[in-house]
Amino acid sequence: MPKRPYNLYAGPAILPQEVMAQAREEFMDIAGTGLSILESSHRGAAYSEINSTAQQDLRDLLNIPDSYSVLFLTGGASLQFGMIPMNFLQGGTADYVNTGAWATKAIKEAKLFGTVNIAGSSEDKNFSYVPAIDSLNLTPDARYLHICTNETIGGIRWPVFPDSGDVPLIADMSSEICSRKIDVSRFAMIYAGAQKNLGPAGVTIVIISDEMLTRCPDNLTTLLNYQTQAAKDSNYNTPPVFSIYIVGLVLKWLKKQGGVEAMEKINDEKAGLLYQMIDSTDFYRGTAEIADRSTMNITFRLQDEDLEAAFIKEGTAAGFIGLKGHRSVGGVRASIYNAFPLEGVKALVEFMKDFEAKHRGD
Ligand SMILES: *Cc1c(COP(=O)(O)O)cnc(C)c1O
Repeated sequence: MPKRPYNLYAGPAILPQEVMAQAREEFMDIAGTGLSILESSHRGAAYSEINSTAQQDLRDLLNIPDSYSVLFLTGGASLQFGMIPMNFLQGGTADYVNTGAWATKAIKEAKLFGTVNIAGSSEDKNFSYVPAIDSLNLTPDARYLHICTNETIGGIRWPVFPDSGDVPLIADMSSEICSRKIDVSRFAMIYAGAQKNLGPAGVTIVIISDEMLTRCPDNLTTLLNYQTQAAKDSNYNTPPVFSIYIVGLVLKWLKKQGGVEAMEKINDEKAGLLYQMIDSTDFYRGTAEIADRSTMNITFRLQDEDLEAAFIKEGTAAGFIGLKGHRSVGGVRASIYNAFPLEGVKALVEFMKDFEAKHRGD
């Protein structure tokens, strides 16, 4: 078999190779039933076990209190941008911090359902930093405060999270869930599209407190009401069984790696190597402010766009796939999620050194 390229795509993104191998192994026969998971009833015993085990494993990994539900929904993180205000804004005021492209999209949806107060923004500097927590202009009786903890395109993350007091804190963690320790009890709701750090596209993880569930209005389309989804154990309609199955395998894999704490250590090491390389020369220039740098999406520029194009082209030829920055911002982005190996980061650093030696002075 030819060597696989190093996959640096932002999403859908690299999956643990052990998970892929296990899925292949079990593809024709899930749990000794003689049927593939793809052709098994979502009300059958095999899927029931997958659903409940995946929920429990996520609870274990993130230390999720019993007073929260774990939901597996569809529509991507993008549908959550709309479901959140639909369920919780109801004509009131919500605070949003605008840290980049994804926060901006969440804000756009919320405006359809009530008043949005932009409590802070880093748009003035191209979303290269996270606004200081003590600078936030928070509404005392806001229905909730929404943040995007890791901006996948800008390559910034909240180093620490704001204390929203009695106002429920809601977070989009799509591109960093399970990459670092978090205290779930500080959040009223956390959501994440799986295809960055937890599995394939098609399922969105929602962690939501019982208290928030009591706030859902009863005049919503059934499927878009969190309460229904929680009451029916994410099985009100046919869930994306295959995606949830793979997420379950990824969660088992995470446990085997030592859990979130161990992942955080490795992620700090991986990101540290790349940032060290970037900071060691003026040939590369990191785009995020140092204190707010993401450990998942490493964004940087070279002297000009021609050199960036050459970097991406030669990188691709050398086996590094997906280095092109998001089309809205350009530049280079290396997405090094949980499943991206340390050895791949080391190889990328070597490539960067070689590329610089070859092209310095171009
Ligand atoms: C990718 C991404 C989204 C959108 O996810 P979809 O599942 O494509 O809707 C939202 N927020 C963040 C932070 C993301 O990285």
